[in-house]
Amino acid sequence: MEGKIRTRFAPSPTGKMHVGNLRSALYEYFIAKHEGGEFIIRIEDTDQERFMEGATEIIYRTLEKAGLIHDEGPDKDKGYGPYVQSERQKTGLYMEYAKELVEKGEAYYCFCDKERLASLKTEVVDGKEITVYDKHCLGLSKEEVEEKLAAGVPFVIRQNNPKEGTTTFHDELYGDITVENAELDDMILIKSDGFPTYNFANVVDDHLMKITHVVRGNEYLSSSPKYTRLYQAFGWEVPTYVHLPLITDENHKKLAKRSGHASFEDLLGQGFLAEAIVNYIALLGWSPEDNREIFSLEEMVKEFDYHRINKSPSVFDIVKLKWMNGEYLKAMDFDTFYQMAEPYLKEVIHHNMDFKKIAEMVKTRIEVFPDIKEQVDFLEELPDYHMEMYIHKKMKTNKESSLEVLKDILPLLEKQEDYSNNALYQAISSYITEKGYKNGYVLWPLRTAVSGKQSTPGGATEIMELLGKDESLRRIRIGIGRLSHEL
Ligand code: GLU
Repeated sequence: MEGKIRTRFAPSPTGKMHVGNLRSALYEYFIAKHEGGEFIIRIEDTDQERFMEGATEIIYRTLEKAGLIHDEGPDKDKGYGPYVQSERQKTGLYMEYAKELVEKGEAYYCFCDKERLASLKTEVVDGKEITVYDKHCLGLSKEEVEEKLAAGVPFVIRQNNPKEGTTTFHDELYGDITVENAELDDMILIKSDGFPTYNFANVVDDHLMKITHVVRGNEYLSSSPKYTRLYQAFGWEVPTYVHLPLITDENHKKLAKRSGHASFEDLLGQGFLAEAIVNYIALLGWSPEDNREIFSLEEMVKEFDYHRINKSPSVFDIVKLKWMNGEYLKAMDFDTFYQMAEPYLKEVIHHNMDFKKIAEMVKTRIEVFPDIKEQVDFLEELPDYHMEMYIHKKMKTNKESSLEVLKDILPLLEKQEDYSNNALYQAISSYITEKGYKNGYVLWPLRTAVSGKQSTPGGATEIMELLGKDESLRRIRIGIGRLSHEL
């Protein structure tokens, strides 16, 4: 096809924006932008029964947060509008095109009522039970059709697929696919409410909007021969098809709504950064030549090559996403990090403490902001820890040695006025040198006593600086008391 690449993101406003939807949007955006083309939004709301109030707003919000700026859409009409199918429907265009197919013998009116349709045999296609229409109404004469229309008998318009021959189409990932026409059902193009089906509207709109690359989930692959036949019936050029692999959960089942992290907003709510989610989702089915993993949106646009999309299903791995989010947090400038971390810190710590210092300490230790809680809650309150924690093989400490060290060092810490990290560290270091101990022999029991934790952001003296003198001494005394009680 000549001219600019034009792709579209064509969501149905039926609920949240799922990971699969967002991936389609990303790839459509990349394919267009990689070649300096245009990215268009079209709202496919022809299924009035599944329409959900507010879903369109979720779509806009998600695209904005993901950084996907569209060139055309409901709010930016560049001459191909309206961009919302229910508005397009009002212009009568779908009906007009359907009638053109009827004229050509490629579609026909069907007046069969529910009872008759219910009596037809069903077939399971893609896990869904569908009625195979028996072309009953194709046998109606022109006069019979006109009579029924004039009498106001409800009708649908169906595609007329031949019983012989084959249809072939090309997909950029799956190659040439040929199917027997006998397998193609006479799908409905116009429903009895006058609305087009998705199956019809997507073809008409992609053509009218001059879409060059149709990118969508591979659940549409089985319908593509029927779409291809529609393009051919109209005498329109078939767009380039790129059908994307399935996204599954860890159990290799289709990523389901109930998994809790299937939608973009769920993930944001769990504390993931929009950039990290976008980066991760972009790699569900695609990887660059050098297997690099951390990309900004601009870098992905530059690198993206749809020929490298993988055909096998991609597994949505929350552990990997967490890792990636952690990488984004490490790379984030401190002020932004602090701004975002502060509410989480305030939720856990109510004492007056140096929040900036705490934020510095946790920045490289968390993967998502909600991890902050388990990292810092010991600062708010000494946990009820196990005494076995005083035993550390490598540091050569045990309960006896710990008790001895803590008792020994307590008067020194009581005398110490300056509770800054540096001053404390110096004081303790001199004590350690004087005694000829190894660092860990003293610092391990000390950190255990002041934190009650086996692993903490920051060492003993950093923690003591945050806690202040009174609280540090109180915790050391508790340690001494509990150790004495045990021994
Ligand atoms: N409205 C369809 C959906 O949300 C779009 C599929 C397509 O991109 O053609 O699944």
